[in-house]
Amino acid sequence: MDVKIIPCLNDNYSYLIFDRSNKNACVIDPSESKPVIKAIEENKVKLKYILNTHHHYDHVGGNKELKEKYDSKIIGFKDDKDRIPEIDILVEDNQIWKEENFEAKIYHIPGHTAGHIAFHFFKEKKIFTGDTLFSLGCGRIFEGTYEQMFNSLNKIKILPKDTEIYCGHEYTLKNGDFCLANDANNMKLKKKIEVIKKKLENNLPSIPTILGDEIECNIFLKAKNLDSFSKLRDLKDNF
Ligand code: ZN
Ligand code: FE
Repeated sequence: MDVKIIPCLNDNYSYLIFDRSNKNACVIDPSESKPVIKAIEENKVKLKYILNTHHHYDHVGGNKELKEKYDSKIIGFKDDKDRIPEIDILVEDNQIWKEENFEAKIYHIPGHTAGHIAFHFFKEKKIFTGDTLFSLGCGRIFEGTYEQMFNSLNKIKILPKDTEIYCGHEYTLKNGDFCLANDANNMKLKKKIEVIKKKLENNLPSIPTILGDEIECNIFLKAKNLDSFSKLRDLKDNF
């Protein structure tokens, strides 16, 4: 499975994943159609499926146009059937979604939105976490509770440590500043930030990140309990 990272809007990432053997492709969270169409054409793939982690505009903005152009099917969480544009296939927590050679486990990870999900391509050890887990950060809590977000992050935290994480935004450097402000002696974090800076200077994404690194560097994954997690989340909102 190949993954092409597609920068969209200001700081969003959509992801084109495809099977080299038959050129079938999925896109995760198409913020807008134009850059996705460009990536589809460059890689000469067939867009079969559009996977949405949640209903926010910057994750579904390209749904309609892409579906019309490529006759793709749109997959999203069952409870968001009325707010994910053009949705075709409803999935639920812990379900395995399997089509062609694509196989992903669905995790319901509420907090940022009530119906947020992650797609875990467990054979390839890649997870698409939308706006729930970012590199060195986590999403803002818009519709859920601190507890839901904390539990959602813990669902991801128990996956194999070499899992690659693909998230919805390039927030990594700003997130890193916050981690450093609260974890000043973390040498691994300092090293990771240096690597991230080099990538960004060269116009490369900081994504994917590796779960094992996040567990050691991401202050939200390091939070020992709900109380300390909640305090950090509040601090970050005003950072
Ligand atoms: Zn969002
Ligand atoms: Fe977003």
